[in-house]
Amino acid sequence: MRATRNIVILTGAGVSAESGIATFRGPGGLWEGHRVEDVCTPEALRADPALVHRFYDLRRAALAGVVPNAAHHALATLDRDWAGGLLIVTQNVDDLHERAGATRLLHIHGALGSALCAACGARAPQTGALPPGSRCDSCGSAALRPDIVFFGEIPYEMDRIVEAIGACDLFVSIGTSGAVYPAAGFVEWANDRGAATIELNLERSAGSEQFDESRLGPASELVPAWVAEILAGQ
Ligand code: NAD
Ligand code: ZN
Repeated sequence: MRATRNIVILTGAGVSAESGIATFRGPGGLWEGHRVEDVCTPEALRADPALVHRFYDLRRAALAGVVPNAAHHALATLDRDWAGGLLIVTQNVDDLHERAGATRLLHIHGALGSALCAACGARAPQTGALPPGSRCDSCGSAALRPDIVFFGEIPYEMDRIVEAIGACDLFVSIGTSGAVYPAAGFVEWANDRGAATIELNLERSAGSEQFDESRLGPASELVPAWVAEILAGQ
């Protein structure tokens, strides 16, 4: 096996679960009687913008009451101390990776702390509620929406991700169900490239058999242990 230089890490809702942010597919995956998949779509945004904006306003407000857990902190330590290449690709829209201190990070599905202008594409930091019809500071259109990639929309920064996976020696998937593409397919790209692949998840996922190794347990225990191993072997 060749030495590990370049690492790509994919994180999902499971990494934030122990901070108290609910995963989508766990028990109670309904929100006010709606399937989450029905709220997070461009069609829903057109049909009932108040409902969709409120859903994300509540998620954004909830961030004030949560803090990063041991898994976020361990990944931030890896980011600081790993001398090789590293990219953390998170599917999470929360900001717990950055609050723990991670910087080599991108949000493939967008972020609660950002608003996107549907008219001109400008982005602006968003803290409080974002009612439908909020105005864009750049172009003046009443077109601000949550900066979130809805089901059926194209994930952000795919070029950077393709490049990073194409150059990685180790691909690690943490707390993700392997149900949402294209992220669910990253392990295949990593395997095609000849990288080692590890999954750290509470339970076996849809894509488990595609990984060289699966470690099962809570992210707050598995991730610090794995990071310590990787840094010790550096
Ligand atoms: P998911 O809900 O589909 O799957 C979560 C996975 O995490 C499951 O496999 C589960 O077994 C595992 N898990 C649960 N608790 C865990 C723990 N303590 N330690 C380790 N693993 C644990 O989430 P997903 O795969 O990220 O995909 C869902 C989509 O929902 C994503 O696109 C994401 O954008 C969005 N989402 C984001 C957040 C967030 O920002 N925190 C929360 C919910 C959903
Ligand atoms: Zn604009």
